[in-house]
Amino acid sequence: MQSYDYIVIGAGSAGAVVAHRLSADPRTTVLLLEAGPADHPWTRVPIGFARMITNPAVNWLYSAEPEAATNGRAIPVPRGRLLGGSSAINGMAFVRGQAQDFDTWAQMGNRGWSYADVLPFFKRMESTAVGDDAFRGRDGPLRVTDPPPRDPLFALLIEAAAQRGIAHNPDYNGATQDGIAMSQATIAAGRRMSTARCYLDPIRRRPNLHIETRALAEALVFDGGRCAGVRYAVPGGAREARAGREVVLCGGTINSPQLLELSGIGAPERLAALGIAVRHALPGVGENLRDHYAPRTRWAIGAPGYTFNDRARGARMIGQALRHALFRPSLLNMVAAPMRAFVRSREGLAAPDVLLGWVPMLTEPGPRGPRLSRQSGLTCYAHPMRPESKGHVHIVASDPRRPPEIRFNFLSAPIDAEITARAVRIARAVMTAPAMAKLLVTEIAPGPERTTDAAILDWVRGAAETTYHPVGTCRMGGDPMAVVDARLRVHGIAGLRVADASIMPTLTSGNTNAPAIMIGEKAAAMVLEDAAG
Ligand SMILES: Cc1cc2nc3c(=O)[nH]c(=O)nc-3n(C[C@H](O)[C@H](O)[C@H](O)COP(=O)(O)OP(=O)(O)OC[C@H]3O[C@@H](n4cnc5c(N)ncnc54)[C@H](O)[C@@H]3O)c2cc1C
Repeated sequence: MQSYDYIVIGAGSAGAVVAHRLSADPRTTVLLLEAGPADHPWTRVPIGFARMITNPAVNWLYSAEPEAATNGRAIPVPRGRLLGGSSAINGMAFVRGQAQDFDTWAQMGNRGWSYADVLPFFKRMESTAVGDDAFRGRDGPLRVTDPPPRDPLFALLIEAAAQRGIAHNPDYNGATQDGIAMSQATIAAGRRMSTARCYLDPIRRRPNLHIETRALAEALVFDGGRCAGVRYAVPGGAREARAGREVVLCGGTINSPQLLELSGIGAPERLAALGIAVRHALPGVGENLRDHYAPRTRWAIGAPGYTFNDRARGARMIGQALRHALFRPSLLNMVAAPMRAFVRSREGLAAPDVLLGWVPMLTEPGPRGPRLSRQSGLTCYAHPMRPESKGHVHIVASDPRRPPEIRFNFLSAPIDAEITARAVRIARAVMTAPAMAKLLVTEIAPGPERTTDAAILDWVRGAAETTYHPVGTCRMGGDPMAVVDARLRVHGIAGLRVADASIMPTLTSGNTNAPAIMIGEKAAAMVLEDAAG
């Protein structure tokens, strides 16, 4: 059996960061376990996103329980399963969230998580030319870029948004989030910047860091009330490793609560019913699941040459591939939704509450993931950013390979339904603004006949999917339903922290990769502080 100072479980957005920072001191030994493989060719090309979203080689491919808000559909819950985790398969949009998100976490009692507290970690993690030094980092490991809105389609969208009172914001990760902008992206020189690429590749040779891929953590190991290590499976065998100092669980929002429950940490009745001995009663494990439930409005474009459908179909794709190979601007280097707007669904709000994201194409399901439709068009998703509806993730068996049950309960909070309908109307308002007339736009979905909230929501229930941002299932807090404290230590168990998107008490206003990486940075700093006493 091997012994290390620290064991990090899961090499995703947060886990890769934790392993990077903890192994910076050559005297400290770190084991990083990752269930998936080291890499996959599609991780290199940004457009490979479309090839990984349904690819079992790199994706856990979970799906959620059918529910009323999905009209009984079992919607997909993709999660990265390789070094870099979901940062290696995601849409690459870089969005921190609003200052208010983190101030809310602090106000909920989580000392050290206000915007002023987390801003230094957001700056430390990135290297970007965007924005103001007061807000942005210049020499961190993660490269973040900002494509200029040179494309005529995006210039028209900016004009259309202005006609609806939505101004252009040069840095939505800066002083204020409000407005429309090209998406900042974890893409540089035409390549995806995952945490595997930015945080692990530069340190692969550290002798004190052992990275073990295709290693599935199956249960935590305890010495009394202290987490002392992990039991894991590798091809052809079972292993155990011991942690002299701490185990940091970074399995993500679906897998972190799963591993806690498999290890006897959770609601006692649930564990007992599955024959799992209760190690510590924590009824909040797996609760508080939140995600962005996002209808995709669809628009046909009559004017030729503006969309990906026109510019990348058939032989034209070969030209784009060549440009990519030569490190020239190419449609293959595109972030999944290159333009986004953060807007207020009504007057009087202190901050935007709706996100719109534009994808310059229409797609349809294909055998190897989404494929381009023959019809030229645009997709615009629109959703509330801070949903109140909550669901859960729970194991249904003691077998670690059995996918857990994921239930979202979307739209169960009436405010979410109300803002979703408003969000669709805002998308419609921008898409029908005078500037868009040039594109000869017609509404495909929800369809202009759906004018009432009830009709819009009826369509949402039959068509929406998430934007893949599950959070909250190992919620940070000090109350009986919290799973970790504000230093991310699991309540009631020594030597064990959770550091990933599962600790978020609420959803951040936007995409979740940047905040997950920030959580990794902050967790590592707290581990090192506590070790120094
Ligand atoms: C398809 C998709 C598109 C997205 N698009 C965007 C976007 O454009 N912008 C954005 O900001 N966010 C996006 N996100 C969300 C964002 O990527 C995630 O919120 C973020 O990566 C979560 O980080 P994490 O560290 O919590 O978990 P992950 O990055 O998912 O890492 C968890 C890691 O732990 C490993 N693991 C889990 N269980 C075990 C186990 N038992 N043993 C060993 N290893 C284990 C997993 O394989 C994985 O590598 C997207 C996500 C997906 C899936």
